[in-house]
Amino acid sequence: MDVKQLSPRLSVSPQIAAADVATLAAQGFKSIIVNRPDGEGADQPNFAEIKAAADTVGLATVYAPIASGIAPSSDSVAAFARAMAELPGPVLAYCRSGARSTLLFKLASDGQTPARAAAHDIVIVGGGTAGIAVAASLLARRSNLDIAIIEPADEHFYQPGWTMVGGGVFDVASTRRAEADLIPAGVKRIKAAVASFDPADHSVILADGGKIAYKKLIVAPGLTLNWSAIEGLEESLGQNGVTSNYRYDLAPYTWDLVQKFKGGKALFTQPGMPIKCAGAPQKAIYLSCDHWLRQGDLKNIAVEFLNAGPVLFGVPDYVPALMEYIRKYNVALSFGHNLFKIDGPAKTAWFKRANADGSSEIVERKFDMIHVVPPQIAPDFIRSSPLANAGGWVDVDPATLRHKSLADIYSLGDAMGATNAKTMAAARKQAPVVAENVLKDMALGVGKADAIYDGYGSCPLTVERGKIVLAEFGYGGKRNPSFPKWLIDDLKPSRAAWALKAHLLPSVYWQGMLKGREWMAKPSFAK
Ligand code: FAD
Repeated sequence: MDVKQLSPRLSVSPQIAAADVATLAAQGFKSIIVNRPDGEGADQPNFAEIKAAADTVGLATVYAPIASGIAPSSDSVAAFARAMAELPGPVLAYCRSGARSTLLFKLASDGQTPARAAAHDIVIVGGGTAGIAVAASLLARRSNLDIAIIEPADEHFYQPGWTMVGGGVFDVASTRRAEADLIPAGVKRIKAAVASFDPADHSVILADGGKIAYKKLIVAPGLTLNWSAIEGLEESLGQNGVTSNYRYDLAPYTWDLVQKFKGGKALFTQPGMPIKCAGAPQKAIYLSCDHWLRQGDLKNIAVEFLNAGPVLFGVPDYVPALMEYIRKYNVALSFGHNLFKIDGPAKTAWFKRANADGSSEIVERKFDMIHVVPPQIAPDFIRSSPLANAGGWVDVDPATLRHKSLADIYSLGDAMGATNAKTMAAARKQAPVVAENVLKDMALGVGKADAIYDGYGSCPLTVERGKIVLAEFGYGGKRNPSFPKWLIDDLKPSRAAWALKAHLLPSVYWQGMLKGREWMAKPSFAK
């Protein structure tokens, strides 16, 4: 149990089990406040079960639920303050992650619902790829806008570089910059995490209890890598041959493993969609195999790609070029295999295999090294908010990127709920579209029609060191190459595409996209 003490009287924790209540009593807790509504999660014990367990060990309980992703009302804050004051202490409060209980504690301690400062013209949630790019695109059009970016992290990452780190091409440090250095001049940076939204009040609530009001809200907090969805993974990563290019600190371990690997079984996994950069799981295969082939070791290595999905790549036009490399490297393809458990020291992984008749079975694989890509979900505070669609992502019109039902809200990047591929390349095209449409809605546009996003996404598939199949496509998996065929034939492995990824794209990112220079990203407009 991850219990965090916030004051001598109150501690918070994520969801507890009924069996934990006796431990809490043994630790000296006298009361429990339950802030998570019954029925929110499938496997969550309801209040009655927690109360029954608490009654047997003499702990008091109060049920004070608040919905996730919505600003707590003054009644909820008052109820929490009352429970804190009246219950015998020390008190443990919990919700799903502990965040709502922490927020209620802060608001109740201040004796208020969040204070509302003057509204910014534009508030951006998230200062990652999409958040910084859209701020820069807005300022490139109107330099005097009042923009605030809410971003808790001190560091910003060029994640597309991590595949190259895992392949021994980039130095990992080149993919990281200080967040403070990337915030465009004139933009106010609010160093905090957003906890919930109050669209009726045109404000967002921060995890520390603050309230930020907006005239226009742009939501770009990326996605959540759900490492804990795979049993045993978090404790296995970074040792025992278990790695992933999906983390800054682990991508160098991939290259380390690949260089030392001389023979045995190498597994590569891919979870169900959507994931960011859907080609990244197989890019790790190709760059590893290319190295082993050059070293003369590939003949001693059995490589298997265990993919939860049914196809090698979602845009069929690019599959033939990729299949040539699958054959060249002698990679065994196992579709419909979903990793759910791993034991690093025992070097064993377990997959749920979906059969054609709808049944499923458990498949066990031994490995000497394994590259894992975690399942990916919308951030909790989006998923449980009024902004979310059925899948948990921000519910926008796929062309204009305006929220479908909530006024003055826009979204882009990985958190956005259209069916495009979640890539930096997509965010590069989305940023100018959102900038144009926000300014148009503020009557600061120049009388144009809506800017339109066509679903562009791109995936530079690093099939060998020095060659890339540059997949570029729009909504519906429609091929959409940017370059003339004589320069880059997107259906074939290309040296020019490798030069683009290895030498040009990092500068396009740091010096172009994050600075409002919209190279090859000018938006088109509705007719
Ligand atoms: P992010 O860049 O992840 O930024 C989200 C930001 O929101 C973060 O800074 C985070 O701290 C912040 N945030 C989170 N929660 C909150 C909160 N509660 N309040 C406020 N802020 C919050 N794309 C390509 O185009 N080409 C590639 O070759 C490619 N390869 C990739 C390889 C790998 C291994 C990976 C991991 C990604 C790759 N991508 C690639 C995908 C690309 O990096 C992402 O699609 C892109 O970074 C998405 O941008 P984003 O701003 O939506 O999310």
